[in-house]
Amino acid sequence: MMALDELEENITVGKKPRKLSAGEIKRFMGIAGETGKGFCRNCGYCLPCPEGIPIPDVFRYENYYREYGLKDWAQGQYGSLPANAQACSDCQQCLDKCPYGVSIPSNLRSAHKILKGKE
Ligand code: SF4
Ligand code: SF4
Repeated sequence: MMALDELEENITVGKKPRKLSAGEIKRFMGIAGETGKGFCRNCGYCLPCPEGIPIPDVFRYENYYREYGLKDWAQGQYGSLPANAQACSDCQQCLDKCPYGVSIPSNLRSAHKILKGKE
Protein backbone atom coordinates (compact mmCIF):
# COMPACT_ATOMS: atom_id res chain seq x y z
CA MET A 1 0.00 0.00 0.00
CA MET A 2 1.35 3.35 -1.03
CA ALA A 3 -1.48 5.74 -0.22
CA LEU A 4 -4.10 6.35 2.45
CA ASP A 5 -7.01 5.53 0.14
CA GLU A 6 -5.48 2.12 -0.55
CA LEU A 7 -5.30 1.47 3.18
CA GLU A 8 -8.90 2.58 3.65
CA GLU A 9 -10.06 0.36 0.80
CA ASN A 10 -8.33 -2.64 2.35
CA ILE A 11 -9.84 -1.91 5.76
CA THR A 12 -13.31 -1.69 4.19
CA VAL A 13 -12.84 -5.04 2.51
CA GLY A 14 -11.42 -6.54 5.71
CA LYS A 15 -14.47 -5.45 7.70
CA LYS A 16 -16.84 -7.35 5.42
CA PRO A 17 -14.99 -10.45 4.29
CA ARG A 18 -16.72 -12.72 1.82
CA LYS A 19 -15.85 -15.93 0.06
CA LEU A 20 -14.35 -15.59 -3.38
CA SER A 21 -16.19 -17.23 -6.25
CA ALA A 22 -14.51 -20.00 -8.19
CA GLY A 23 -14.11 -17.59 -11.12
CA GLU A 24 -12.45 -14.95 -8.93
CA ILE A 25 -10.05 -17.50 -7.46
CA LYS A 26 -9.13 -18.69 -10.95
CA ARG A 27 -8.55 -15.13 -12.10
CA PHE A 28 -6.43 -14.22 -9.06
CA MET A 29 -4.36 -17.38 -9.34
CA GLY A 30 -3.70 -16.51 -12.97
CA ILE A 31 -2.45 -13.05 -11.99
CA ALA A 32 -0.36 -14.53 -9.18
CA GLY A 33 1.19 -16.99 -11.61
CA GLU A 34 2.13 -14.23 -14.03
CA THR A 35 3.67 -11.95 -11.44
CA GLY A 36 4.81 -14.59 -8.97
CA LYS A 37 8.13 -15.94 -10.14
CA GLY A 38 11.28 -13.97 -9.91
CA PHE A 39 9.83 -10.93 -8.20
CA CYS A 40 11.43 -9.92 -4.89
CA ARG A 41 8.88 -9.44 -2.07
CA ASN A 42 11.43 -8.06 0.36
CA CYS A 43 10.70 -10.88 2.78
CA GLY A 44 14.34 -11.23 3.83
CA TYR A 45 14.34 -15.05 3.88
CA CYS A 46 17.50 -15.01 1.77
CA LEU A 47 19.47 -13.32 4.55
CA PRO A 48 22.04 -13.40 5.94
CA CYS A 49 24.38 -13.14 3.00
CA PRO A 50 27.95 -14.15 3.94
CA GLU A 51 29.21 -11.05 2.15
CA GLY A 52 26.86 -8.83 4.14
CA ILE A 53 24.81 -7.72 1.15
CA PRO A 54 21.38 -6.46 2.22
CA ILE A 55 19.73 -8.27 -0.69
CA PRO A 56 16.14 -7.05 -0.23
CA ASP A 57 17.33 -3.46 0.11
CA VAL A 58 19.16 -3.66 -3.21
CA PHE A 59 16.06 -4.94 -4.98
CA ARG A 60 13.88 -2.39 -3.25
CA TYR A 61 16.07 0.48 -4.44
CA GLU A 62 16.12 -0.98 -7.93
CA ASN A 63 12.34 -1.05 -7.83
CA TYR A 64 12.15 2.57 -6.69
CA TYR A 65 14.49 3.47 -9.53
CA ARG A 66 12.62 1.54 -12.22
CA GLU A 67 8.99 1.76 -11.15
CA TYR A 68 8.68 4.99 -9.19
CA GLY A 69 11.12 7.21 -11.02
CA LEU A 70 13.03 8.03 -7.84
CA LYS A 71 16.33 7.62 -9.63
CA ASP A 72 18.57 9.99 -7.71
CA TRP A 73 17.12 8.96 -4.38
CA ALA A 74 17.48 5.25 -5.13
CA GLN A 75 21.07 5.67 -6.30
CA GLY A 76 21.87 7.69 -3.19
CA GLN A 77 20.41 5.06 -0.90
CA TYR A 78 22.24 2.33 -2.74
CA GLY A 79 25.49 4.25 -2.45
CA SER A 80 25.14 4.38 1.32
CA LEU A 81 24.66 0.63 1.83
CA PRO A 82 27.38 -1.04 3.93
CA ALA A 83 27.94 -3.63 1.17
CA ASN A 84 26.59 -3.51 -2.34
CA ALA A 85 25.88 -6.06 -5.05
CA GLN A 86 29.47 -5.94 -6.28
CA ALA A 87 30.48 -7.89 -3.17
CA CYS A 88 28.53 -10.96 -4.35
CA SER A 89 30.86 -13.97 -4.57
CA ASP A 90 28.19 -16.03 -6.38
CA CYS A 91 28.26 -18.60 -3.57
CA GLN A 92 24.56 -19.33 -4.33
CA GLN A 93 23.66 -19.83 -0.65
CA CYS A 94 20.76 -17.44 -1.01
CA LEU A 95 19.10 -19.21 -3.92
CA ASP A 96 17.59 -22.13 -2.01
CA LYS A 97 16.32 -19.79 0.68
CA CYS A 98 14.24 -17.63 -1.65
CA PRO A 99 10.69 -19.00 -1.86
CA TYR A 100 9.93 -16.86 -4.91
CA GLY A 101 12.57 -18.13 -7.28
CA VAL A 102 14.47 -14.87 -7.59
CA SER A 103 17.75 -15.32 -9.50
CA ILE A 104 19.50 -13.35 -6.82
CA PRO A 105 23.15 -13.21 -7.99
CA SER A 106 22.33 -12.30 -11.60
CA ASN A 107 19.58 -9.89 -10.57
CA LEU A 108 22.01 -8.23 -8.18
CA ARG A 109 24.42 -7.68 -11.03
CA SER A 110 21.79 -5.97 -13.16
CA ALA A 111 20.56 -3.92 -10.18
CA HIS A 112 24.12 -2.77 -9.54
CA LYS A 113 24.51 -1.57 -13.12
CA ILE A 114 21.33 0.45 -12.89
CA LEU A 115 21.94 1.87 -9.45
CA LYS A 116 25.50 2.82 -10.32
CA GLY A 117 24.32 4.50 -13.53
CA LYS A 118 26.13 2.10 -15.82
CA GLU A 119 23.12 1.07 -17.88
S1 SF4 B 1 25.24 -15.58 -4.00
FE1 SF4 B 1 25.90 -13.50 -3.57
S2 SF4 B 1 24.09 -12.54 -2.65
FE2 SF4 B 1 23.76 -14.76 -2.54
S3 SF4 B 1 24.50 -15.33 -0.49
FE3 SF4 B 1 26.21 -15.62 -1.94
S4 SF4 B 1 27.36 -13.70 -1.87
FE4 SF4 B 1 25.34 -13.31 -0.94
S1 SF4 C 1 15.30 -12.28 -2.88
FE1 SF4 C 1 13.73 -13.76 -2.35
S2 SF4 C 1 14.11 -14.31 -0.21
FE2 SF4 C 1 15.29 -12.44 -0.63
S3 SF4 C 1 13.94 -10.81 0.03
FE3 SF4 C 1 13.57 -11.11 -2.16
S4 SF4 C 1 11.85 -12.54 -2.28
FE4 SF4 C 1 12.65 -12.63 -0.18
